[in-house]
Amino acid sequence: MKKNVYFKGLDFIIRLFITLLIILLIPSNSIDSKAINKSKKFNVLVINTYDEKNEWEHLVLDTVKNKLSDYPQIILNVEYLDIQKGNDKQYLNSFLNLLNLKYQNSEIDAVFTIDDEAFDFVKKNLFNESSIFFKTPIIFSGINNFKPLSEIEKDYITGIVEIENNIELINLIMNLHNNIKEINLILNNATYSNVVKKNLPKIEDFFKSKIKFNIVQGTYIEDVTDELNKIKKDNQANIIVGDFISKNNDVPLATATTIKEINSVISSPIYTKSQPYITNGAVGGIVNLGQEYGKVIANVIVNLYEGSTPRNISIIYGSSEKIVFDYNLLDKYNINPLLLPKDTILVNKGPFDFLLPKSLKISSWFLIIFFIILIISLIYKVIKNKAEYLKQKNLLIQAQESERLKTEFITTVSHELRTPLNIIINSTKLIHNKFENDVIDKNYISNKLDFVLKNSNRLLRLINNVIDLSKVESGYLTVDLEVINIVEIVEDTVMLTVDFAKNQGIDIIFDTEEEEIYTAVDTVKLERVILNLISNAIKFTPSGGSIYVNLYKKQNSILIEVKDTGIGIPKHLLSKIFDRFNQVDTSLTRENEGSGLGLSISKKLVSILNGSLTVTSTEYVGSTFTITLPITKLSEKKQCPSKNESHLEQMVNLELSDIKDKY
Ligand code: ADP
Repeated sequence: MKKNVYFKGLDFIIRLFITLLIILLIPSNSIDSKAINKSKKFNVLVINTYDEKNEWEHLVLDTVKNKLSDYPQIILNVEYLDIQKGNDKQYLNSFLNLLNLKYQNSEIDAVFTIDDEAFDFVKKNLFNESSIFFKTPIIFSGINNFKPLSEIEKDYITGIVEIENNIELINLIMNLHNNIKEINLILNNATYSNVVKKNLPKIEDFFKSKIKFNIVQGTYIEDVTDELNKIKKDNQANIIVGDFISKNNDVPLATATTIKEINSVISSPIYTKSQPYITNGAVGGIVNLGQEYGKVIANVIVNLYEGSTPRNISIIYGSSEKIVFDYNLLDKYNINPLLLPKDTILVNKGPFDFLLPKSLKISSWFLIIFFIILIISLIYKVIKNKAEYLKQKNLLIQAQESERLKTEFITTVSHELRTPLNIIINSTKLIHNKFENDVIDKNYISNKLDFVLKNSNRLLRLINNVIDLSKVESGYLTVDLEVINIVEIVEDTVMLTVDFAKNQGIDIIFDTEEEEIYTAVDTVKLERVILNLISNAIKFTPSGGSIYVNLYKKQNSILIEVKDTGIGIPKHLLSKIFDRFNQVDTSLTRENEGSGLGLSISKKLVSILNGSLTVTSTEYVGSTFTITLPITKLSEKKQCPSKNESHLEQMVNLELSDIKDKY
């Protein structure tokens, strides 16, 4: 007995062991067989209820793809059920056959269905052994008509269920338009529209007789607009659900076109439960954002990829609905934005758009424009005052500068007047003394009279310069043009200074590349300028130095260069020497006499002759002054006047009168 019992026990253990072995060895068909192997590809077949143009579904899919971009092993293949083309048994069977054929050699790890029809289609084939969907995990989205899952289905199915509830949207519409009496529900024939229709009695019951609901249902936009045209009244609002097809070409319409067609028959506001209609003509609505859906679905796919099973991923009931309005249409339908719920998303709202009713918005703009004008005028006033202040300040500086120059001028001129006058007076006194003592020394008297003459010339030159400057500055100086050989004029002028320079121990060398250049020029003014430049060169060149006067022709201009080997001009003073009364050495004890007017007059004279006067200089090396004059021919030939030698000589005497003897 005991033995028997022992064998019975052993038999039980062996049986148990064999059973366990069978369980372990027999391949399981359960969901666990799809468990993750991370190096392996994870194929997700996406079945979209509509075609690829459907906007909301597109948004969901784009977000899913975007979120899964970090998982290259997860591969999405998208197929379109396109129920607007057909939804009967034969159509669905053909679609299934096509998919079976297309994917017979690929292993599908999960199916993601978008909207009701795609989900119904895949779910029907979940346990169909001859279908590619056989026991394949399903992730669904956009399901309105959700039927509870059986226990075995729960092993394979998970996703987001939409809770259909239009009460919140209708309440919102009534809040925004206090005169609304009727609401048209614009539906197509898809599952979602049918669910809305089915739920209508509950809604009617909720709102009692406060609102009348009209169902406008059709597949084609033409039928919908015909119906709306018949029932349109004042105090209506519309809620659009689903997409429509045009009878013209049997093609699904873009949301913007649908709204355009509807707006062509009615003027009441269009609300929606479908995101793409907002920004395409619907004023607002309560919608499920495709982006939010996409994020949730991508997470579910990743969870499956990482080894979870649909049973472990809870179904989400009611996703996050958002109130969205198109800011651009609020005014059109007289909607007060202040009545919108706090968490409303406003699309098309710029940073400077106000959240105010239309009437207040206009007055706010007036107020803002008024303030802007006020601020601008204040700024303008401040700027103007500042400009006025700066102008006054500049005038003051100019007045002070002119005052300074005048004082300096008076000091210089007084000095310039006093020195020659003293010499004249002294010389005259000395001659007078001689006469009183009856001593007639011819040489002595001639020498003193030379002094008198030279210093009288200095006085005359100074007075001439002052008069000329005022003439030039007031525009009274006339130009007397004549066609002459300018080479001859320059040469003659230079020659008259050679002896004088020689007496000072300075050589003057004249050189020209041209023998003759005939041009229209004011001879007297040109001679005056050349003499001024030579006089300066002699003044500021020590004995033993040289002065070169060169003449060139360059294209259509004549260049007259007066170059010396003198003391030069400091760089920082180069630009100032052409200003009137400006001298490099302003001390009363300076070596050279002068009023600081010569160059200023010369520059102006050259510019009257349409030319220019420029300088380059290096301290202790020398200076080069260049006169550039255009070669011009007068239309009517003027007779070259006979040369007036004595006039030129007088001018030489005047110009050179203030040069001190260098010995
Ligand atoms: P001024 O009648 O006193 O000579 P200018 O207007 O002719 O006045 O010259 C102005 C100043 O420019 C002179 O006082 C002198 O300091 C400087 N200057 C003019 N020419 C020369 C030159 N060739 N070399 C050096 N300094 C010069």
